[in-house]
Amino acid sequence: MIVSKFGGTSVGTYQAMQRSARIVASDSDRRLIVISATSGTTNDLVDLSESTLDSTSREEILKRIEERHLNIIKECSEKEKLEKEFYGQLSELREHLDFVGRDKRWKDRLYAFGELMSTKLFVEVLKENGVQAEWLDAREVIKTDSTFGNAEPDREVIAKKAKKWIDPKKIYLTQGFIGSDIFGNTTTLGRGGSDFSASLFAEAVKADTLEIWTDVAGVYTTDPRIVPGAFPIHEISFNEAAELSVFGGKVLHPATLKPAIRGGVNVRVASSSEPDEPGTLIVKETKNKPVIRAISLRKDQTLLTVNSLQMLHQHGFLAQLFKVLAEHKISVDLVSTSEVSVALTLDTAVNAANKVELTDQVLDELREFAEVSVEKELALIALIGNEMQKTSGLGGPLFTALESYNIRLICHGASSNNLCFLVDHDESEQIVKMLHEKFITE
Ligand code: ASP
Ligand code: MG
Repeated sequence: MIVSKFGGTSVGTYQAMQRSARIVASDSDRRLIVISATSGTTNDLVDLSESTLDSTSREEILKRIEERHLNIIKECSEKEKLEKEFYGQLSELREHLDFVGRDKRWKDRLYAFGELMSTKLFVEVLKENGVQAEWLDAREVIKTDSTFGNAEPDREVIAKKAKKWIDPKKIYLTQGFIGSDIFGNTTTLGRGGSDFSASLFAEAVKADTLEIWTDVAGVYTTDPRIVPGAFPIHEISFNEAAELSVFGGKVLHPATLKPAIRGGVNVRVASSSEPDEPGTLIVKETKNKPVIRAISLRKDQTLLTVNSLQMLHQHGFLAQLFKVLAEHKISVDLVSTSEVSVALTLDTAVNAANKVELTDQVLDELREFAEVSVEKELALIALIGNEMQKTSGLGGPLFTALESYNIRLICHGASSNNLCFLVDHDESEQIVKMLHEKFITE
């Protein structure tokens, strides 16, 4: 069984839906289809949930959502039925809007409209292509805790629910991104969470392969918008890809690989507009293992430096520090320590899957036992590859190449698949270009 996930741009227009439906139809093993909202819709829904929104902007956004979906509906053979269904959903959405701001549960319920709407349309487009898929409400299967906006899935319950709702002989279409808690409230898995949903489904149904159909021809050696010479990677290991998605490869949601690795599911990332291109295969072991395979860049990083004389020859300081961060659910990426200080990086990018908000409350709690400083506008560059901790001769050329730049922090040695450093935001793209040219060959 193949679980196939199509992202927002792959279902964003009628033509895109047709292309994606043809992909589904071309292999009868594709039996669990997970899709995102039509592209732009989740952003619109997030904008709608802003409490400061005036009624004119609200109507404008609703109009955008309406047009986007009507443009698809008008091409479908089941026009009338779909239109009726869509306007039903839209009026329900309007009703919900009156409640957001009062209760955070309503935001997730609001965001869910994107995927609920897109799946109602895509199920018809699949039919037009001869695929009789059952529409499955993902909230019956993807059971999560009640952390609205960034819910934690419960894999054991998901496995049970998958058994109950999914007959492996049939074909299903379902929503990415959404789930529900034990009370039945709608939850969401964080922005970009459809990949993660698809991976959870793939693990639960013990799929052989998880396909992520997107708008790029696979996982690239680096962001091709920054480096035109970047190219799709044919094969990459789970370990490398995990570093890549955590450290800013924008193709996959960072949590996507975990369920696939647990379930031994191979992952393929490919472009729905060029389905014959090989894309990228993510597997346990790759044939070739270059020292540097890819470079990722993540902007809007914040460096938090915590300094305390207490730390001198003391134990328990790090525990104390991380306890505060954990209590505020702050996820830390890099850590570097000296005798009396600790520097940590936090992902403060607006669209980060695990966006960190460094509130005054957190800082105050840290200031109770340490001096704290915060530096913003930094960028994190990660080199991803193999056996990096053992390879001699990497440091020399690398640091020579970086000679004229200010490197704010370096982390090397924790993982054999990654070496990363923090640089000034304004120099970051230039550095990535230079490193790609010097260190990555096809
Ligand atoms: N529609 C959701 C978002 O835009 C989830 C996804 O597309 O993966 O974040
Ligand atoms: Mg995505």
